[in-house]
Amino acid sequence: MEWGRLTLAGAMAAQEDENWTPVGDPATGETIGYVRMCSEDDTREAVASAHAAFAGWSGEAPQARSAVLRRLAGLISDHTEELATLLTTEQGKPLAESRAEIASAAGYFDFFAEEARRVNGEIVASPRADSRILVMHKPIGVVAAITPWNFPVSMVARKLAPALAAGCTVVLKPAPQTPLCALALAALCRMAGLPEGVLQVLTGDAATIGAVLTQDPRVAFLSFTGSTATGRLLYGQCAITIKKLGLELGGHAPFIVLPDADLDKAATLAVAAKFRNAGQTCVCPNRFFIHDEVYDDFLGRLLQQVDRLVPGDGRNPESTLAPLIDEAALTKVERHVADAVAKGATLTRGGRRAAVGRTWYQATVLENVGPDMLVSCEETFGPVAALSRFTDVEQVKSAVNASQYGLAGYVFGRDISSLLKTAESLDLGMVGINAIHLGLEMAPIGGVKQSGLGREGGHAGILDYCEQQYLLVGL
Ligand code: ADP
Repeated sequence: MEWGRLTLAGAMAAQEDENWTPVGDPATGETIGYVRMCSEDDTREAVASAHAAFAGWSGEAPQARSAVLRRLAGLISDHTEELATLLTTEQGKPLAESRAEIASAAGYFDFFAEEARRVNGEIVASPRADSRILVMHKPIGVVAAITPWNFPVSMVARKLAPALAAGCTVVLKPAPQTPLCALALAALCRMAGLPEGVLQVLTGDAATIGAVLTQDPRVAFLSFTGSTATGRLLYGQCAITIKKLGLELGGHAPFIVLPDADLDKAATLAVAAKFRNAGQTCVCPNRFFIHDEVYDDFLGRLLQQVDRLVPGDGRNPESTLAPLIDEAALTKVERHVADAVAKGATLTRGGRRAAVGRTWYQATVLENVGPDMLVSCEETFGPVAALSRFTDVEQVKSAVNASQYGLAGYVFGRDISSLLKTAESLDLGMVGINAIHLGLEMAPIGGVKQSGLGREGGHAGILDYCEQQYLLVGL
């Protein structure tokens, strides 16, 4: 399959010089392609092209934009195997997870193909008989989208779909670890009929590209998903030109098991949520709070499932535990585990690099985790389940709400009243109640506190890519 500008063979033929940068396979460490190091000038040129394309794209009938997005959703589905293979090759996750991610991405384009036709305004009751008040939603303009490596297809789709549906043009800067998926999506956009200039993809040095994108007044909106530290930096950089921002940042999700929970379900979903993508997801549970009455039962079930995880190359259908993205990620996980053990946690499973390859870490379970440990405060972003017991749910709520993060969390139990009371008392943007798959295109995704600003997805998601304009009409 040729991805337009990207053919792996063509990319491999690129010179290894300062204009190109290699893309690696985290499982093997091999170089699988090269992408261009875009300069400041390239970035300005991309913004200029997106700016020039805005009038045409925003001027299209919503039905025309909808048709492009629907075709794109179809093309993504039709190319599931090629895209999933590419995703696994450059990111490492098992193929089954990659296929699920491709389906989610197609879902975003499908959903926003419909929403494109529903950006309705409002006629507000006027205080005077001789005037009318009209409120319209107009596409905001050029959107800069900066995306992470952990979901290199769906995180792009989550931004691109509502932006294009609203009539915006987009300059996309994917993560340096996973630019090929973004280029593949861009090639499919062209196949779907997206006009020239509407989407630009910039690869290369993040700080160089980011500085231009955040300072250029022609960029109206920055949509960023990544770490809180980088989000904070970009927030500051955007202040100069007063850009609108959407930030989906780090999380530190609690997983709370109440005494009446269905323990089989809780353990199965705990393992699925924790070890998906080897724990490299911003909504994955970092802390497990298990009620003392059911702690031992839950732990037994959890360990059974953890012991069944198979670390291995994502292209092998047996593999269920992905590698970490790079050496730095491994070192961070090692630091968190060593810190927990030094401060009194019990290492019940794992705790070492897995021998299957260079960047695997064993599925790890820590018990007796205390609040002063790094795993209790920082995002681990690795396959480490940190467990502690509780007897008073009020203490759990206080611990959760003391965090600087407020992205996602999970509560398991049967009594609807305690479930709702617990979920509602948590300062989190999203809570799964006996459920873990929060990333649905029809729902508002995002966090509170230092986990971000704004929401992505859902009916309101498209309005983030619009500005309201109010017209006062005298009669
Ligand atoms: P991680 O540490 O997990 O890679 P980051 O927040 O650093 O998380 O990365 C998320 C995205 O932000 C990536 O596309 C990355 O290249 C980009 N990024 C990192 N630093 C900057 C920066 N200074 N300016 C613009 N983008 C950046």
